[in-house]
Amino acid sequence: MSEHVPEPLTGGCLCGGVRFEVTEPPLVALYCHCTRCQRRSGSAASANARIAPGSLKVTAGEQLVKSYNAGDGAFKKAFCSECGSALWSEHPENPDFRAVRLGAFDSDPGIRPSFRQFVAYAAPWEPIPDDGLTRYPERIPS
Ligand SMILES: [Zn+2]
Ligand SMILES: [Zn+2]
Repeated sequence: MSEHVPEPLTGGCLCGGVRFEVTEPPLVALYCHCTRCQRRSGSAASANARIAPGSLKVTAGEQLVKSYNAGDGAFKKAFCSECGSALWSEHPENPDFRAVRLGAFDSDPGIRPSFRQFVAYAAPWEPIPDDGLTRYPERIPS
């Protein structure tokens, strides 16, 4: 039996201009119901995976990646400036802390969301699924 060397997870934006890889298995995944995520994704919640520090590499289109920093201490939101796709968020002072949007991965990232945060702000038009995941009214306590 040959040793299995895992391929890096790959992903990208809708137009294909931005490509990236994540070289280590994601740490944890979650749904975020905050109003910021509703605005920037146009959906009821955002599914994200927190990744190991330093494990994200942009392999194409680095010049297309723009970040929105609300300036209030929230994570910066990186997106493709050509097609607008949400890609990942990053801590405003420490870019090693990043969370990649699950929908940006090409294939199964091998992790499933294990909790929901900011459910106090959940969209009124979509009931939170009764999926047994732990719900936090605000940010998950760290
Ligand atoms: Zn794009
Ligand atoms: Zn959010």
